[in-house]
Amino acid sequence: MSEIGCYFFPVLGVGSNLCISIFLIRVEDVLLYKLLEFIIVGLGFKSRYISYIQSPELMNKFLIFSALCLVFVSCATVKPGPDYSKLSAQELLQEATQIAQSTMLVDGHVDLPYRMKVGGFTLKREVLDVSVRTPDGNFDYPRAKAGGLDAPFMSIYIPAANQAVRGASKALADTLISMTERLTTTFPDKFAMAYSPADVQANFAKGLISLPMGMENGAGIEDDLANVKYFHRRGIRYITLTHGKDNLIGDASYDTSATHGGLSVFGEKVVAEMNRVGIMVDLSHVSDRTFRQALAFTKVPVIASHSSVRKFTPGFERNMSDELIEGLAKNGGVIMINFGGAFLDSAYTVGTVQVREHVVNWLAENNLSRSDPQAQQYIQDYTSKYTPFPTVDRVAAHIDHVVRLVGIDHVGLGSDFDGVGDSLPTGLKDVSMFPNLFAELLRRGYSKKDLEKICYKNIFRVWEAVENFAATQK
Ligand SMILES: [Zn+2]
Repeated sequence: MSEIGCYFFPVLGVGSNLCISIFLIRVEDVLLYKLLEFIIVGLGFKSRYISYIQSPELMNKFLIFSALCLVFVSCATVKPGPDYSKLSAQELLQEATQIAQSTMLVDGHVDLPYRMKVGGFTLKREVLDVSVRTPDGNFDYPRAKAGGLDAPFMSIYIPAANQAVRGASKALADTLISMTERLTTTFPDKFAMAYSPADVQANFAKGLISLPMGMENGAGIEDDLANVKYFHRRGIRYITLTHGKDNLIGDASYDTSATHGGLSVFGEKVVAEMNRVGIMVDLSHVSDRTFRQALAFTKVPVIASHSSVRKFTPGFERNMSDELIEGLAKNGGVIMINFGGAFLDSAYTVGTVQVREHVVNWLAENNLSRSDPQAQQYIQDYTSKYTPFPTVDRVAAHIDHVVRLVGIDHVGLGSDFDGVGDSLPTGLKDVSMFPNLFAELLRRGYSKKDLEKICYKNIFRVWEAVENFAATQK
């Protein structure tokens, strides 16, 4: 309905006015002149204006001018889309669900591969059956379909602990990539690999969920630059330069060692090689200095695949400061907002510490251990009652902040589903609940076009720029 409202009336307005004006300027009818004379005098204009309309040439100019005025007025008065502020909460959710279903939705970061690994679903065993509703986790096929999620980037996550053993990081990356591929060969009617925006689009047209891949922690490259190209061949389309600890590439936000003072010399070579082969540079998890240096070094736009806004979590370097967001926007990049509680609100982090302290004290007072069934029930009840989970509204506030700072072209979604435990906001607990976020954005005045940018157009712009640059390097 909104599409008709958007395009039908301007087309009708412009078309009909042009027809009338063409018709009028061809009519050289005395009656028409008399009619205009009557209107001009009737409106109280001086009679000298009448002499203007007695010249057919001037008359034609006058008619064309008035026709153009009509066209302008009819276009200017047409609203760009439906007025969502007038809809009820239920109507907003319906509209949001419709948008989620009809629009491609890319999520910058979903930790399903590692969830499978933790669950023991390695290559030696059968694949985790996410084709049906799973009792735990935040992602599976039915819930992704319900939420309109079309292309969750599968995180090929390498814990920093693997960095201690040479070759362990690359080996784990290879395993997780194969496990992701196996999902698409086991459920070919539901999932498909995707190595480009064009692949995502083609899969979307077939109703398949794309599983593009990003490697979380550049440690997978080990100390060999040739591995950048190797992982591109294996399908990796972004690499998060670091994870929890400094690595050979650069310093991490969670580490205080400042091993390299930012991006290392090897890190510069890695970024250049990623630009060259066509892998997006992901600056989530890096320290501020690494961020600035990588941003200055890259020749193409970058992403932050799962970071939020530091303004809401002062001192939390894992989120992005306004200065970094502005730098990222200048570079043409995208910050994809993380839904984890600790990323959204400092009050969540403080509140969970208080809940934990209370539980420890309660266990001691009652002489119970965590494994005691009575204790388990109490802990569950108390935690769910007193943990200050953020709401969907807070996620929208992060998006709003980025939009106010640098505009709508530099924000996306990087939920971190399956990666942030039980810290997700109320109303955004799994992939089925994206429409709740879209309803809140519509309520705040975002248009369908804005949502399209957040859902896929912004990340596609970066991804395509990276592809295009790589194409010139061959
Ligand atoms: Zn992460």
